Order: sequence, then structure tokens, then C-alpha cells
Amino acid sequence: EKLENLDACGSRISVFVRLRPMGKKERENGSRCCVKILNKRDVYLTEFTNDNDYLRLKRLRVRHFTFDSSFPDTTTQREVYSTTTGDLLEAVLEGRNGSVFCYGATGAGKTYTMLGTMENPGVMVLAIKDLFAKVRQRSLDGNHVVHLSYLEVYNETVRDLLSPGRPLILREDKQGIVAAGLTQYRAYSTDEVMALLQRGNQNRTTEPTRCNETSSRSHAILQVIVEYRTRDAFMNTLSRIGKLSLIDLAGSERAVATDQRTLRSLEGANINRSLLALSSCINALVEGKKHIPYRNSKLTQLLKDSLGGSCNTVMIANISPSDHSFGETQNTLHWADRAKEI
Ligand code: ADP
Ligand code: MG
Repeated sequence: EKLENLDACGSRISVFVRLRPMGKKERENGSRCCVKILNKRDVYLTEFTNDNDYLRLKRLRVRHFTFDSSFPDTTTQREVYSTTTGDLLEAVLEGRNGSVFCYGATGAGKTYTMLGTMENPGVMVLAIKDLFAKVRQRSLDGNHVVHLSYLEVYNETVRDLLSPGRPLILREDKQGIVAAGLTQYRAYSTDEVMALLQRGNQNRTTEPTRCNETSSRSHAILQVIVEYRTRDAFMNTLSRIGKLSLIDLAGSERAVATDQRTLRSLEGANINRSLLALSSCINALVEGKKHIPYRNSKLTQLLKDSLGGSCNTVMIANISPSDHSFGETQNTLHWADRAKEI
């Protein structure tokens, strides 16, 4: 049903919200929960004011948002995967492109959702697992080859996370924009993939002050390329390629802009250019513009063939339940609310 929908209206963005559980530290520092999710769709955000001030308490505000699906903090990794990304895989096997983004402030649960842990693997790992299962089912009708690339955009520099070294240069060729020299890892099974991705993640740029913490400005992109090869009646080789991009975005806390004007005023400041450019592209898609400004950043150049057009795009907005993160949560929900208009 999703596929028909896609053909009828071109590009489509599905927007989901995932609430993470309250952390131990947050419980200890007296955080209160300010987010409630009901019916797997509705998100209620409460703004607490000073309890001691009777008049202010009366002005307590609750905002309501609604999304394709909203995941309460008890939702499993598999449930998140199958609701958000399961359908995209089918399209990728048919030779189409799709992308899944995790958006949100630092600490909101993006990396947990995308990569996860050994015990609770996230979307990236579950997608690859699912892909191999589907490829095995279809192996009679031809040949599928799966390649993985894992790269980082940090400070407008593209790096190979599977084979760290010098920055990669983006080039435009027949296939679109490619990172020259990027490792294309031929994957045969899921067993190796989790370890591979964990290692790749350790190669992400770290914060200079805290060197075992991934920089909040680092974007990680896993590209899963599925090539299907077969022969026609005259024994000519035919092939089609689908690409799934899974993206753990940089922290959104410093780049909050929901309209073009704020975006432009922020561009001068030294904020994450790629994140702003992504917002610009999404705004342009929301407004139905002909020109989508993909060229403005490395991230959007890399995703040019996977965003808009006939591609399926999925946004997972990650939020924290703590009232200490109220402002960031509110910004993330506004951003997600805007993105769903496409
Ligand atoms: P981000 O990548 O957005 O900065 P993380 O994914 O690193 O955030 O999450 C912050 C912390 O919260 C981590 O310790 C992570 O393990 C934990 N966490 C996030 N989401 C969940 C979840 N759904 N269930 C359990 N723990 C979570
Ligand atoms: Mg992270």
C-alpha cells in the first residue's frame, strides 16, 4: 500500500518520534518526565514552571503533536525497526533508494536507535539482517550482491569509517555523487556486520575535550547497496541497484531552524553546515520547490539520490523525557512536525 502511495504522490517523508527511558543520572538529579505518548501516535509535551509559584503553576502548558507513529519508552528495537524501515527494504530490493534519519539533540537516543548495543541491535543491524533473509528467499530468481559503506561527515570533511585515513573527495559521475576511494565492503552475513559497525563507530571523530565521546557534530552514514543481477533471454547481463542510507545525524541542539529566514541568519555562524543544509532541503521539499539545494553541504550531496524524488524518506525524531531537556525536545518536535508536511 505504501508503494502505491509513493507512486501517486512522488516523494514522501514518514515521520516518527521515539521517546527514550529516563536515565539513571536524570532520575538522581530530580528530573521530571515532561513527555507522554498515547495511542502510539499522540505526543503530549508539558512545560513545567516553578512549583513554588502558585500563579505560574496555573499557567502550566501542554502541547500536543501527532505523527505517523510515536514510540513510548518501552518500545523495542525490533518494533522501531519494523515500523519505520521494514517497508523501505522491499523498495530497495526493487532497485529504489531510501533513507532513514535519526534526528535529535545529543543524548536523545539517536545512536541507540541506529546502531544499538550488542544485546539490543538497532535499525542498521536489523535492516541488514532482514535484507539477508529476504535475499535468501529470492535467491532463485537471480543474484543479489550487498555492499556496505560507512562514512562520516564532520566539519564538512568526509571520512571512511571502515578504513580511516585521509578525507575523501566527492565526485560526480554517471551514478551520481560518489566519495572517491570509499570502501565498499562485500557483506555475506549479519554475524560480521554488528562488529564491523561497532568498530566503524569507534572511528568517528571524538570531542577534543572528552576523547572517548563521539562528537555531537559528527554525522554517520551507513550505505547499503543492493545490486540485483540477472540475464535476459539473449544472455545479456541485466542489473539494477537500490540503495538504503541509514543516518545517525549530528546533535540538533545548535542548529534549530524551522524556516528559511532563520536558516539564512544561522548560516554565518559556525554551526553544523550539513545539518542546516539538510533542513533547507527538507523545507524546499515541504514547500514543493523545483530546486532542492543539495549542493550546500557534504551531507546533502551524499544524499542527493536518496532524498526527495521517488525516494522513501523516514525521519525518526529522538527525544528525552526529562524536563531538563524541555527546550531541545520542543525544538525537535517542531522540526518533526514541519517535516511531516511533505
Ligand atoms: P545520541 O546518540 O542521540 O547522543 P545515545 O543514543 O547515545 O544518544 O543515547 C544516550 C544514552 O541513553 C545512552 O546511554 C543510551 O544507551 C541510552 N538510551 C537511548 N535510547 C535508549 C532506549 N530506547 N532504551 C534504553 N536506553 C537508551
Ligand atoms: Mg550519538
